[in-house]
Amino acid sequence: MRKLSEFIPTYNDFPRKGISFKDVLQVVQEPEIFRDLILKMSSNQIIKDSEAIISIDARGFIFGSAIAFQTSKPMICARKPGKLPGLIIEQNYELEYGENTISIQKKALKNYNNFSIVDDLIATGGTAKSVSDLLVKEGKNVTGLLTVVELNNLKGRDKFKFPVHSELRI
Ligand code: AMP
Repeated sequence: MRKLSEFIPTYNDFPRKGISFKDVLQVVQEPEIFRDLILKMSSNQIIKDSEAIISIDARGFIFGSAIAFQTSKPMICARKPGKLPGLIIEQNYELEYGENTISIQKKALKNYNNFSIVDDLIATGGTAKSVSDLLVKEGKNVTGLLTVVELNNLKGRDKFKFPVHSELRI
């Protein structure tokens, strides 16, 4: 059986010098690998324990929505600033250079207490941390963070007290 790692190529010095970019989107071009991945992620306890999935802009939406479809759970999008209409809640976070903001529609959270977070990749963990901080500020519980890839050397998982699972740790 072919391994997930074969379908996640690395591009050195992209998008900037010094970054080893993992092209997770290649997985979606391989229907059988993508299907196996989604079935595996969907059966993770982090998803099972949650009432709703929060997926992170933008690649997180691809994996999050497939898991939502498979599990019949609602999916809520955490988006970059200026993208969501209506009343939103926001959280700033640090990037390697500068900072960014993540936003969620307030009304999307109101019917649930337990949320899983889905993204394509954990690097420093800063993006997912901003989403979990936002949820905690709203009085919500996070069942865990589930991703396709995790960059071990950056120790992003150390930022979280809840379960973190990645299908490929490299
Ligand atoms: P971080 O907040 O540092 O955990 O970064 C996570 C986000 O940045 C994810 O949503 C990824 O899509 C993207 N990202 C960070 N580093 C990489 C990388 N080396 N390869 C691909 N995507 C990355």
